Amino acid sequence: MLIERIVAPNPGPMTLTGTNTYLVGDGAGNLAVVDPGPDDLPGHLEAVLGRARQLGRVTTVIVTHRHLDHLPAATPLCRETGATLAGHPDLPGVQRPLADSAAAFDGLAVLHTFGHTRDSISLWAAADGTLFTGDLVLGTGTAVLDDARGALTDYMTSLDRLLALQPRTIYPGHGPIVADGVAKLTEYRDHRRQRVQQVLDALAAHGPSTPDELAAAIYTDVPAHLLPMAARNVRANLEMLEATDRVVGSLTGQWALKTPDRAS
Ligand SMILES: [Zn+2]
Repeated sequence: MLIERIVAPNPGPMTLTGTNTYLVGDGAGNLAVVDPGPDDLPGHLEAVLGRARQLGRVTTVIVTHRHLDHLPAATPLCRETGATLAGHPDLPGVQRPLADSAAAFDGLAVLHTFGHTRDSISLWAAADGTLFTGDLVLGTGTAVLDDARGALTDYMTSLDRLLALQPRTIYPGHGPIVADGVAKLTEYRDHRRQRVQQVLDALAAHGPSTPDELAAAIYTDVPAHLLPMAARNVRANLEMLEATDRVVGSLTGQWALKTPDRAS
């Protein structure tokens, strides 16, 4: 499987060096483009089209999720090439809805892996251990969770599922290509588990607390302007712990351990 990366010129705190657009070839001149990127970047679409012309013909455009740094250029790309837009059935504008485990393109199977968004997919080529993760797993740093309730539970389920595949190489939505997929997924899973434990520890130490208070207690090295995002992450942890009956929320916005340690 031929894979080439073209980085879109949209660097930023959330997009790292920019969106990774991938050209994937089947060896017979047919190409898929994964995550075309934004449609307002000078030269990016032209770069993708130019390289695609050298390699063959774009038959499929696959978008890993609906965010504006991944999806919009799919429209002009499909128009220019006659390719079909494939993605999760809820992806706006999708022409070929991809069910879980469906074949997306030449040996690439679709996995519904929610957590970053409710329409996030990964692409898995079992033959060579290749995994495209969109923004579920990034080349560096950590991924951002969906705002929806239950997102962290979805996210952990997705990580476990991908880890079970024992992928060799990860092609993320942003950041460098990951040479040791298992190590990266293990790091992600351990990081999330550690955060869960930190939330439990902070609740035990401080008693009933709001997500903002817990974020300030846990993320001591995070600048103040990033604490609201940290609080969002704490809230996702609390919701996951609530679903497994380990914490309880209240109308005042405070959360508490379900079985406080009365011995201390
Ligand atoms: Zn992204």
